[in-house]
Amino acid sequence: MKRLLIILVAALALVSCGSKGNNKVRTVGADEIEYNVDRFYDLAILRYRVPDFENLSTQQKALVYYLSEAALWGRDILYDQNCRYNLRVRRTCEALYEALSRQPSVVSDEQFLLFEKYLKRVWFSNGIHHHYAEDKFLPECTEAWFRQACQENNIALTDELVRVMFDPTVLPKKVCQDADKDLLLASACNYYDGLTRAEAEAWYEQHKDTSAEPRWIGLNSKLIKRDGQIIERVFRAEGDGLYREALQHVVENLEKALEYAETDEQRLVLQKLIAFNRTGDLKTFNEYAIAWVRDLESRVDFVNGFTEVYGDPLGITGAWEAMVNFRDEVATDRTRTLSANAQWFEDNSPTDPKYKKKECRGVTAKVITAAILGGDCYPATPIGINLPNANWIRKNYGSKSVTIANLTEAYYLAAQGDGFNEEYYLSDEERELAKKYGALMSDVHVDLHECLGHGSGQLMPGVTKDNLKEHGSTLEEARADLFSLYYMADPKLVELGIVPDEEAYKTQYYHQLLNGAMTQLVRVEQGKNIEESHMRDRALIARWVLAHVDSVKPEAEIIVQDGKHYLRVNDYQGVRRLFGQLLAIVQEVVSTGDYERACQLVEDYAVKVDPDLHRELLARYQPLGIAPYKGFVNPVYQPVFDEQGKIKDVLIRYDEGYTEQHLRYSHDYSPLPDVND
Ligand code: ZN
Repeated sequence: MKRLLIILVAALALVSCGSKGNNKVRTVGADEIEYNVDRFYDLAILRYRVPDFENLSTQQKALVYYLSEAALWGRDILYDQNCRYNLRVRRTCEALYEALSRQPSVVSDEQFLLFEKYLKRVWFSNGIHHHYAEDKFLPECTEAWFRQACQENNIALTDELVRVMFDPTVLPKKVCQDADKDLLLASACNYYDGLTRAEAEAWYEQHKDTSAEPRWIGLNSKLIKRDGQIIERVFRAEGDGLYREALQHVVENLEKALEYAETDEQRLVLQKLIAFNRTGDLKTFNEYAIAWVRDLESRVDFVNGFTEVYGDPLGITGAWEAMVNFRDEVATDRTRTLSANAQWFEDNSPTDPKYKKKECRGVTAKVITAAILGGDCYPATPIGINLPNANWIRKNYGSKSVTIANLTEAYYLAAQGDGFNEEYYLSDEERELAKKYGALMSDVHVDLHECLGHGSGQLMPGVTKDNLKEHGSTLEEARADLFSLYYMADPKLVELGIVPDEEAYKTQYYHQLLNGAMTQLVRVEQGKNIEESHMRDRALIARWVLAHVDSVKPEAEIIVQDGKHYLRVNDYQGVRRLFGQLLAIVQEVVSTGDYERACQLVEDYAVKVDPDLHRELLARYQPLGIAPYKGFVNPVYQPVFDEQGKIKDVLIRYDEGYTEQHLRYSHDYSPLPDVND
């Protein structure tokens, strides 16, 4: 139900281009850091950099440090929310892991390695259920080995816990959608205890806040049925609050952060959040959310608390999450430059003048650098945030929407060398362009698409977005993509300092055509059509262009070499002309609401899959062993104190491994009891 957040853009990243008029490209110290940290099952662990952290003021660094501490102290809460046994499973496995890893004779043992993989997966999922697929995963080591190893190392183990880990019929689904079972009773997640769906819904109905500025009843509480009575246990630091042991530490660190607040607005945000964590009062939460939306000047910002409601089968209670970040000034400046010039782009686009906006305002995107990830943002994380979730706050007070540049950068850099470009790109020429400009140009593409593309053009009187029905979002995404593709090759972008030279766009052209015509199909199952609207948009663009090239001197073409299909681009400026032509067509379809023509475009270019080509692409992809899901390790922050105990500097390190990090967090930030009722 509720919404927001988490924009997953597909790939890409941020090596930002210099500010206005200056073509300096910020380069990444790619050799200093190991971006690929670990790999197991369908998961890869990456490392992200925090560029510019060193250049923050001491006050900002101290603020980041204490907010980071507040972020780490909530980790246990999410484990318990995901399933009531998660903390016990994690702690038992960690105790065994630490005991065994001190024994050289054991660590190369096959059973030990299988057990280690299981524990790594528990850390990744914040529990025993797959973070995405939601079903329980089982250890591959044998139950007998596990029981014996625990016994030999004096680690307490109950039969109940063994069943939770090894029996596939126990708690099989985090959220169970079986029509013949009760949604709440059959789900392993821990937002309700002993209630049926009907009982919980009735309770919410009865306690609903119908005022103009309603409290989000249930956001920070668990409903428990005891002796026929339903009680609400509120998550708060005071009194008998559920999760109080963790929230007290969160509050303590927010209070320290308060001493380093950058602005009065930010001070108010922190004060309200501290008060909310203490009391659990939802009116205070609203005040906090409004203060947070209004704090636009502070460079450092954060999310900390019960936020996204995807984990609750009823979509009401927030999973605990945290992220500390600060504004990426260079990238944010780039989006400001684009939107300041929005009218120029509109006036010069290849669309028919009657479909252009007379007054065009671009959108400014805030780009941020993540400094720490916690709770539901760790290790797997969104690369965009759009909060708060309450609609009335969004409407009356606004919202903040950000993209997280250093995480997309990490995805991009980690993908260099995963074998993908080696397999699918035609030659070293295209691969070198990708290395040099790929990260920057994917960012520029996202910026042009979001800041200018969607806001461009106008609908004819009487036409609405609904005219194109099921094809509306495919055509709208194609329009924004084409606007971006057309302009990224324009000398204006060099002039504005957005791109460094007139070659940079080529790598994004190559990527878009290859991806849309071929490589995105590796994410489609053999025998299936293309369904998702962004994928349809990309297929439409690439296949339309390839179908409209010059028959004698094709601007771009698919060629076969050694039995494999490749893309060859012969004339990049010629491809730009084709993008411009298609932009004019798509704009007309959207502006006039021409449903039949939309159907034609989508059916001809965006849906069908050539089964032979598809089989070949999948066969080439499989041996690369690329992990479908990725997560991160955090950097390590080390405060340096002066004689008065005030922070005088904060050092940042990028050398902690995945296992090391989780074991450290479990030692240093794990205040909750095994069982939280
Ligand atoms: Zn879009």
